[in-house]
Amino acid sequence: MDLGIEGKWALVCAASKGLGKGCAKALVQEGVNLVITARGNDALQATAAELRLLAPGVQVVAVAGDITTAAGREGALAAFPAGAQVDILVNNAGGPPPGDFRHWDRETWIKALDANMLTPIELIKATVDGMAARGFGRVVNITSAAVKAPIDILGLSNGARSGLTGFVAGLARQPQLAGRNVTLNNLLPGPFDTDRLRGTMAGAAAKTGKPMDVLLDERRALNPTRRFGSADEFGAYCAFLCSVHAGYVTGQNLLMDGGAYPGSF
Ligand code: NAP
Repeated sequence: MDLGIEGKWALVCAASKGLGKGCAKALVQEGVNLVITARGNDALQATAAELRLLAPGVQVVAVAGDITTAAGREGALAAFPAGAQVDILVNNAGGPPPGDFRHWDRETWIKALDANMLTPIELIKATVDGMAARGFGRVVNITSAAVKAPIDILGLSNGARSGLTGFVAGLARQPQLAGRNVTLNNLLPGPFDTDRLRGTMAGAAAKTGKPMDVLLDERRALNPTRRFGSADEFGAYCAFLCSVHAGYVTGQNLLMDGGAYPGSF
């Protein structure tokens, strides 16, 4: 299927690794020019080189910076070459740490809200009216399955991402956006085989004394598919949502979790 987005420009945040990188790979293979970000410049440049090899002729601009800061967001937006605009925005950042809410102070909460709620909202604010004026726009927010089925130790994530989800649900339905072919959707990953998942598992291994392989197998066995998702699968779904064919999908929370969520709806 031709996704119909060749030549468009996308900002894919937090894309040197994991799910963001999966989205960047899928988009670049559809001929979408990219600005990608991450804090660590070495991994970011390596990913940019990989993307250029995947799709010679497509432009890939890599900007190192913390997307949760105003400077990081300004740097990312300023990296678009003259004449290029953000047609597609993939919002992503690292997730907040796990813990017990009894130990979280205001600063901890503000950090989580900044990263996983206010940063995507700021980037949406900077881009959607331009998208509407041009008659095409796609926003995909990478959130979490924890929005639908909260995990107790991930209270910071549950809270911040639910705030974003509520905001997007209202905004996506504004006729000045929906009526101008601008869609906003949230993609909710369950367990995906990325550095983050392996980092969480390494923490659990250190705590329990169980070997990491055993913990990974136990976690896989909990999923109906008996495996983790791959970043490439995630990217393919994201690219479809960014395609010309997905103009009638907006304001949705799309779970991608191998069927782990047990409800009918
Ligand atoms: P990952 O493999 O650790 O990759 C995270 C990427 O984001 C890296 O490229 C990292 O590069 C970049 N990044 C992190 N913080 C950033 C910041 N402040 N500014 C710019 N770039 C930043 O993580 P992932 O598994 O892809 O997870 C992506 C998101 O999905 C996270 O919010 C995570 O909580 C959520 N999620 C993941 C899973 C899963 O199973 N993997 C499940 C549910 C939700 P630098 O460190 O160099 O900045």
